[in-house]
Amino acid sequence: MKNVWEEALFNLSKAAEAMDLEPEILERLSVPMRFTEFTIPVRMDNGARKLFLAFRSCHQDATGPTKDGTRVRPGLTPEEIKALSLFMSIKHGVAGIPAGGGKGGIRADPSALSEGEYERLIRGFIRRLNPKGAFTDIPGADIGTGKQAMAWMLDEYEQMTGMHCPAAINDKPAELGGSLGGFEATGWGVAACTGKAAEKMNLEPGRTPVVIQGFGQVGSVAAKKLSSMGFPVTAVSDIAGAVENPGGLDIGGLAAHVDRTGSVAGFPGGRNADKGRILEIPCGILIPAAVQDVITAENARRIQAKVIVEAANAPVSPEADDMLASAGIRVIPDVVANSGGAIVCDFERTQGLSNDYWSLDKVEERLNGRILTAYREAEDRAAERKVSMRRGAWINAMGKIRAAMLLRGWC
Ligand code: NAD
Repeated sequence: MKNVWEEALFNLSKAAEAMDLEPEILERLSVPMRFTEFTIPVRMDNGARKLFLAFRSCHQDATGPTKDGTRVRPGLTPEEIKALSLFMSIKHGVAGIPAGGGKGGIRADPSALSEGEYERLIRGFIRRLNPKGAFTDIPGADIGTGKQAMAWMLDEYEQMTGMHCPAAINDKPAELGGSLGGFEATGWGVAACTGKAAEKMNLEPGRTPVVIQGFGQVGSVAAKKLSSMGFPVTAVSDIAGAVENPGGLDIGGLAAHVDRTGSVAGFPGGRNADKGRILEIPCGILIPAAVQDVITAENARRIQAKVIVEAANAPVSPEADDMLASAGIRVIPDVVANSGGAIVCDFERTQGLSNDYWSLDKVEERLNGRILTAYREAEDRAAERKVSMRRGAWINAMGKIRAAMLLRGWC
């Protein structure tokens, strides 16, 4: 993996330059407000104690309590966590979420741990981190943590404090105060942004083929929603293969096939395609929803889409960004397009604090309103400064953080 922290600082400095940000504010945003590195001793099943390294980065809290996920993966670096906390500050600013950016993580391989070892590791993370609750720093889930891990985190936190406080931990199961729509949030947001981009470019849904790389949580939910909006999803890939049908794939049937077989490959409702060339299939809208850095200087010239909607984080490299702009291909940036998950996380905290839990329809309606506002604001800032929508989104977020810092008298 390339240095994500350097890439985050690159985007930060480019937006700062475009908006004439005061050097003092740029300096404050270029380093996390607080970064904690700590160890978690875990009793393993064989009786030995093993020490795991953990991190929590709070990028800035001028705009509200820091909040977001906990990543557990082997080889996790402090730079990755710092970069992700900065991205969360930006994503929250973009989406109008009154929160600062946070990110935590543990350097460990969940698949190499027994369930008991993993539970002790997760509980140990909260015990050692000792978070101060819903108004300070709110951990959530990320790669390597899911609903069960968040349930253990909440339970550990509530045992430590002796109080029930569902808003202190995000991404928990609905039975413990989690929000409905958490699973769908990012895919729904991607679909809403896709619909808006198509409308702005006069692309009629029925005549606008959509190609999606990745058919996991985000890609499959976006595919289903887009299909229901009338867009033909003509090709889909995953790590194992790809399938295409120029007439449009039956997404319900494809999802059932994936449930049965574990991959989109071999779906009888289409023909197998070359997963290595999925991004180069001619289409109206291309949605990379798998991993970062898939559209680079190497393949950008071969992209034949009118719009790219970044469902994954950073799927387009900075060099490719410039090449796509020259070719007239519009990019809806990740900080807007995949902010649905962060938005519903904020709804989760609101519901936990108010004890008023919303229906799925209400979550979706509010999510659409919030993400389309984020879309419009990013476009407006981009038009004002004559920059890309990505830059416009960053400027929008940084303007809000700047205002909060100045009003607090920090700069
Ligand atoms: P997931 O693990 O559920 O699904 C990932 C999908 O991508 C799978 O279908 C997998 O087979 C496929 N894939 C992996 N490597 C691939 C490759 N090299 N080529 C083609 N396909 C490949 O993950 P997800 O939750 O759907 O997340 C997808 C992306 O969206 C990630 O980049 C993630 O960081 C980003 N994201 C997710 C969320 C969220 O709420 N889940 C929020 C923001 C951003």
